[in-house]
Amino acid sequence: MDKANSPVWMPYTQMKTAPEPFKVNSGKGSWLYLENGEKILDCISSWWVNIHGHACPEIAEAIYRQARELEQVISAGFTHEPAEKLARLLLTKLPDNLKRVFYSDNGSTAVEVALKMAFQYWKNKGIQTRTSFLAFEGAYHGDTFGAMSSGSRSVFNDPFNELLFDVDRVPFPATWMDDSEVLKKESDALLSLEKLLEKKIGKYSAMIVEPLVQGASGMNMCRPEFMKKLQDILKKHDVLMIYDEVMTGFGRLGEWFACKKSGTEPDIICLSKGITGGFLPLAVTVASEEVYDSFYDDDAAKALYHGHSYTANPLGCAAAVASFGLLSENENSFRRIENIHKERMARLGIYENLTKFRICGTIAAVDFSGDSGYLSSIGPKLKSFFTEKGFLLRPLGNVVYILPPYCISEEEICMIYEIIAKAAETALI
Ligand SMILES: *Cc1c(COP(=O)(O)O)cnc(C)c1O
Repeated sequence: MDKANSPVWMPYTQMKTAPEPFKVNSGKGSWLYLENGEKILDCISSWWVNIHGHACPEIAEAIYRQARELEQVISAGFTHEPAEKLARLLLTKLPDNLKRVFYSDNGSTAVEVALKMAFQYWKNKGIQTRTSFLAFEGAYHGDTFGAMSSGSRSVFNDPFNELLFDVDRVPFPATWMDDSEVLKKESDALLSLEKLLEKKIGKYSAMIVEPLVQGASGMNMCRPEFMKKLQDILKKHDVLMIYDEVMTGFGRLGEWFACKKSGTEPDIICLSKGITGGFLPLAVTVASEEVYDSFYDDDAAKALYHGHSYTANPLGCAAAVASFGLLSENENSFRRIENIHKERMARLGIYENLTKFRICGTIAAVDFSGDSGYLSSIGPKLKSFFTEKGFLLRPLGNVVYILPPYCISEEEICMIYEIIAKAAETALI
């Protein structure tokens, strides 16, 4: 890229070697329309946020109406209808134990808040020893320091290694179709968890988990049965369970939330990404009454001293209320996609360089053979192959995944499978 071209410094981008960015003029449904007259099919919901497709008129309208009434107000000591309404709506779809909604503005901050809640929960209860966290290998929880610490160490956070707090890790029992090893991987993971819990009795405040699907590390999927067993063990050892559903929430797994799909009840849950349908940055951390009660006290020192300038921004809340309405009116939009994946993915079975076929709700993923990991050399080749053909697919290393907006048509999904088949046929390696 020409160094003088643009003052914009992009995320997750080596600016020197990155190709020229696409200039987008507008979006509609699953499509992005470029300045040069071409269009691109958004197969990954623009980094997993855009659940109803682009420029959804109902949400745009809700934001406009709200902007004419109240655009922003300080959130300590003041409240407003969009924040109250959204909190109540969210609780109707979450497990019954979750009761208190804390607002922030992105996935990483939702995670920071969850970690702070869990950590202070024990201190507020007078227990000083529960100062460690548990997490999975391969986890990704965001890019702020607490979130980086709980995520796996990788090329993303390597320069900051000395600044990250230690977290004890358990292997993630990733599975796929026709995986004969899954039970063994699950029992090994649970055994390794129990060993840690027995070695450090009374030391862990919480375990943070991406339930059912680990996103950024390559759409690694595990079984609902595993989530249940994990919950039983954590409960037995009195360790709080935090679900990072920043990616998996709002229909992404073919069900409202992964906790519902797996029949489990976390003590704290983090939601963001799809919450406003991709319109505005917003996040919530929802806590159980028990967690909330430890902060609820005459003692000012027991309050949760965390907040952001844009906490519970009325425009974001209004967008989220509108998005919630659209999801409730048409649950079939996200429930229908899994079957289409199942049918189409089966046809990719003929390619020997594709392995580990996996589907969870609206997400489908497959590994291309070759070296693995985020910096896998095949990743950039695949990415440019797809964009040249008009598809926004952004492989995570050698993993190609589809994570579409729910408005996508069956025909458009078929087009994505055809282009993946073409990539498998073309000698890319
Ligand atoms: C994207 C993501 C985050 C971070 O959210 P941001 O809004 O990008 O800060 C955290 N956890 C998971 C599981 C995510 O997928």
